[in-house]
Amino acid sequence: MKKYKVTLIPGDGIGPEVAYAAKDCVDATGVNIDWEEVVCGEAAIKDFGTPLPEAVLDSIRKNKVALKGPITTPVGSGFRSVNVGLRQALDLYACLRPAKYYEGAQTRYRDVDLVIVRENSEDLYAGIEFAEGAADTKAIITAINEKSVKKIRGDSGVSIKPISKFASKRIVRFAFEYALKNKRKKVTCVHKANIMKFTDGLFLSCAREVASEYAGKIEFNDAIVDNLSMQLVKAPHNFDVLVLPNLYGDIISDLCAGLIGGLGIAPGANIGEGMAIFEPVHGSAPKYAGLNKVNPTATILSGVLMLKYLGEEKTAERLENAVRDVIKEGKFVTYDFRLRKDEPSVGTREMAAAIIEKLK
Ligand code: NAD
Repeated sequence: MKKYKVTLIPGDGIGPEVAYAAKDCVDATGVNIDWEEVVCGEAAIKDFGTPLPEAVLDSIRKNKVALKGPITTPVGSGFRSVNVGLRQALDLYACLRPAKYYEGAQTRYRDVDLVIVRENSEDLYAGIEFAEGAADTKAIITAINEKSVKKIRGDSGVSIKPISKFASKRIVRFAFEYALKNKRKKVTCVHKANIMKFTDGLFLSCAREVASEYAGKIEFNDAIVDNLSMQLVKAPHNFDVLVLPNLYGDIISDLCAGLIGGLGIAPGANIGEGMAIFEPVHGSAPKYAGLNKVNPTATILSGVLMLKYLGEEKTAERLENAVRDVIKEGKFVTYDFRLRKDEPSVGTREMAAAIIEKLK
């Protein structure tokens, strides 16, 4: 039997609960994984003085694959996002987030099976920011005001939105290759090119160029992000694969999670050249930490994506079927599968145990 070594990052808040639940479910499939657990996030600050120790990056570089729980990012100030830092440091440029309906999930929609492909390295998430009042910021504002007809107010903070031809073509090609490999029919490029002509406009023109290479094999169209939001809520079945720049990809991911019954069900993967981190779309939900309450499905389904990535297609299918059966039966499911608060539900561990039982 093939043996794998995988980095395990439990994360912050509810992270350890969902990450261990997913690890146990993956192990229960019988696949031979030697897990290398590393500390990252708030817990790492105490021991290593940084939320993203070099040892974490080294472990992922060595093992090539990681399963990760969410990590907290302080809002407005404090350390920068470790999640974004990991993706950038390892150039995990493609964020893959399937949004699929499972019978039993709390949602108005039945016919949702779409995949979000989010560019992970650029856009307003590049982390190129200049604080209001700082000397560098003033110099940048002065330089821009000299070159631009439109002026920036002197008391502004500035975030830069870089979009390159290289990264745009790379992510669109990833989306088309994913569509081909997974028998998808259509790729939709999402943008705001009517307003941001030199960034989103570039993204769209790169998408059109790459799409022409797949003409006759995969359908292609584009949508403006605000209109797409309305269309997704109205008729999500009209969409298949969506490819988006970083910021829209982040927001639309949560919208699509809402379509399928909430963040507790939405898995994800961050993929680069020969390396990948698998993690749920949701964050560390600190108010639920340690309560054995939240839904482990998103992280377990991230484990399914990981098994597929490792080439363990059949095992991945078995695990997904076990998750599907437990959700459909609706007996051992967490609170977010219930319409009313007074309906009985089980905890994180009990739901994972029910999934493991199905694998026996
Ligand atoms: P969140 O996703 O952590 O939680 C928002 C709400 O979604 C929760 O209050 C809960 O109602 C629901 N929810 C989330 N996960 C759930 C689950 N597994 N089961 C059931 N319900 C669930 O978003 P937030 O509160 O905006 O962010 C909290 C922290 O997480 C922040 O520090 C944020 O930066 C971080 N974050 C991390 C990641 C990541 O690690 N990739 C992603 C998003 C947010």
